[in-house]
Amino acid sequence: MKLYLIALSLTLVGSCATLRHSKKIELLKDNIEFENTQTINSYLNTITKAELKQHVYAFSSDEFQGRMTGEPGHHKASKFIKDYYISEAIPSPLGSKYYQHIPESYFSDGIKKSQNVIAYIKGSEFPEEVIIISAHSDHEGYTDTEIYNGADDNGSGTAAVFEMAQAFKIAALEGHRPKRSVVFLHVTAEEVGLHGSRYYTQYPVFSMKNTVANLNIDMIGRVDDAHIDNQNYIYVIGANRLSTELHYISEAANTEFTNLELDYKFNSDNDPNRYYYRSDHYNFAQKGVPVIFYFNGEHEDYHEPTDTPEKINYELLEKRTKLIFATAWYLANSEKRIVVDQDY
Ligand SMILES: [Zn+2]
Repeated sequence: MKLYLIALSLTLVGSCATLRHSKKIELLKDNIEFENTQTINSYLNTITKAELKQHVYAFSSDEFQGRMTGEPGHHKASKFIKDYYISEAIPSPLGSKYYQHIPESYFSDGIKKSQNVIAYIKGSEFPEEVIIISAHSDHEGYTDTEIYNGADDNGSGTAAVFEMAQAFKIAALEGHRPKRSVVFLHVTAEEVGLHGSRYYTQYPVFSMKNTVANLNIDMIGRVDDAHIDNQNYIYVIGANRLSTELHYISEAANTEFTNLELDYKFNSDNDPNRYYYRSDHYNFAQKGVPVIFYFNGEHEDYHEPTDTPEKINYELLEKRTKLIFATAWYLANSEKRIVVDQDY
């Protein structure tokens, strides 16, 4: 009897804690509200499939020879990125050079010196706090007979970052500068070992402490086999791993603006693919920065020379880019920065 009572009261204490926890989460969810949806929508609408298509075709053209880290094709691609920001009058926190140089000694396996490219829109109220939107710029290079164009990997991510940067720029020009700074980070050397993002997190331009979140994009223009019959989806990985709030912001952005199916299959810790550990966001997560990794899953052209721009679903690329933009908008404009409430 006594034992039973102890067991019962322990159960009650336990369920109270759970209840408190779920109350807290309910409160968190309820507090996430997009203000000025009309304003946000007007900037979302500057993100178009026509412009995304133009960027993907340009960035995955043969001119860049498959963008192998350290090789002339990738240097050219880096200059292409820099020139885009100059043409859009979007500055770099590094001044006129836009490049974060990485010396050859940082790499191994004969990879030559390379560079991350960084641009940003400075925040109006908390400029030292940053949201980093990232996409890797390198790919697999070429062989004697074939070029690895990497239209999805990662022309799609690069194009998405370009369009979001432009949308934030237009908003700033029209008096809607974000409260926090938004950084557009094109990292190098992902395919050869996540080196560019690791370098950035070791030598950050804005301190890691002031880095509010990293939204990382690697392949968002295609559809995998699992979604042939329901293409209106995106895999969302990592959102709840460090910040419960980030997960709910992502969900609210989707409900309010895009209505994609957010597929969390690959976010499961026991998923054998372990994608959470396999792209650039993971270097940020290791430093305690909440991340979201956006990904369409693998497909038959993954890491093949047949990953070409005519196979991209541009309508879907537009929708997915809008989801990321709306999420970034919230993170950059909320009164308080998101809280890390999970261990890492
Ligand atoms: Zn990739």
